[in-house]
Amino acid sequence: MPVTEDQLAEIEAQRAETAPTRRVVAEGMEARLYSVHPVLDHGFVRVVDYMGDDAAICQAARVSYGRGTKAVSNDEGLIRYLMRHWHSTPFEMCEVKFHVKLPVFVARQWIRHRTANVNEYSARYSILDREFYIPAPDALAAQSTVNNQGRGEVLEGEEAARVLDILKTDAGRCYDNYEAMLGQDGQKGLARELARMNLPANIYTQWYWKCDLHNLFHFLRLRADSHAQYEIRVYAQTICEIVADWVPLAYKAFEDYRIGGVNLSGPAMDCIRRMLKGEAVTQETSGMSKGEWREFEAVLAPTGER
Ligand SMILES: Cc1cc2nc3c(=O)[nH]c(=O)nc-3n(C[C@H](O)[C@H](O)[C@H](O)COP(=O)(O)OP(=O)(O)OC[C@H]3O[C@@H](n4cnc5c(N)ncnc54)[C@H](O)[C@@H]3O)c2cc1C
Repeated sequence: MPVTEDQLAEIEAQRAETAPTRRVVAEGMEARLYSVHPVLDHGFVRVVDYMGDDAAICQAARVSYGRGTKAVSNDEGLIRYLMRHWHSTPFEMCEVKFHVKLPVFVARQWIRHRTANVNEYSARYSILDREFYIPAPDALAAQSTVNNQGRGEVLEGEEAARVLDILKTDAGRCYDNYEAMLGQDGQKGLARELARMNLPANIYTQWYWKCDLHNLFHFLRLRADSHAQYEIRVYAQTICEIVADWVPLAYKAFEDYRIGGVNLSGPAMDCIRRMLKGEAVTQETSGMSKGEWREFEAVLAPTGER
C-alpha cells in the first residue's frame, strides 16, 4: 500500500475541507486534489496545489483585465495556435505542485529536469521506510539486443525467480544492516546521513515537485515517451491523465502537436516533397544518414507499424 491508514485519514480530512475563493478553480483538478494516484508497487503521485486553468492561459496571452474568456471555441483556437507556434510563456502562467513517492533510481532521472522546484524527504533527518521497488513479472526484462539503453524480452521461469529473489534478499539485507548501524542499543549508532549510503537505489524516496505547465509539458514529452524507462514513464503517464483533467484544451493541443507530432529536418521535408511528386527516394539519394533515414521511415510508417 503506498500510504498508511493514518496518512489516508490525513488526506481525507484535507479533502473534506473547502473554502470560498475568488481564484480560478478547474473542476477536473478539484476532483483530483490531494488524492493518491498509485504508481509502481509503493509509489504515488498526488496533486497538492495548482494555479490556473485553460482560461488563465488565454487571459495571459491576451493580457486581459478580467477572466479573459471570450468563448470556449476562441480559447481552444488560441491555445492550439500558441502550442503550434511554441509561444510558451502563456503556459508558464499555470503551475502545479505534486507530492511524489518514487524509487531513488527514478528520482535520479526525474531530477535532471531543472526547471522545477523540489524539496525532498531528508534521509539525514529521518529514517527511510523499508520499501523497495520490486518489478512486477512483466516489467522484469532482459537487456535489449537492439537498443543499448533499453530492455527486451521479459525474463521467465528460473531466471526470473532467481532475479526477483536477489532483488528482494539484497534489499532486505541492506535494510537490516541500515537498522543495525542506526541502532543505539549498546552502541553509539551511526549517523543517518551515513547509514543510508549502503541502501540500494530501489528504495523509495519522496518529494514535493512544483513546475509550470510549459516545463511540465516538456517533462511529459520526454518521459511519457516510449523511449523513456518504464519506471519513470508510468509516473509521467499518471501525470498526463491528471493534466488532461486540469487543462483539457491545453492537454489536447499538447497531445496533437507534441506527443502525436514530429519535427522534420530540412532534408526530410525535401524528401517528402520529392516523394509527393512520385520520386522513389532511397537512403542513398535522400541526403540523410542511415540513422536519420531509419527514423524518417519510422515516422512515415502507418501507426501500427512504428
Ligand atoms: C530517453 C532519455 C534518455 C536519456 N539519457 C541520458 C543519459 O544517458 N545521460 C544523461 O546524462 N542524461 C540522459 N537523459 C537526460 C537528458 O539529457 C536531459 O538532461 C533531461 O531529459 C532533462 O531535459 P532538459 O534539460 O531539456 O529539461 P529541463 O532541465 O527541465 O530544462 C528545460 C529546458 O530549459 C532550458 N534550460 C534549463 N536549464 C538550462 C541551463 N542551465 N542552461 C540552458 N538552458 C537550460 C533548456 O532549454 C531545457 O531544454 C536522458 C533523457 C531521456 C528522456
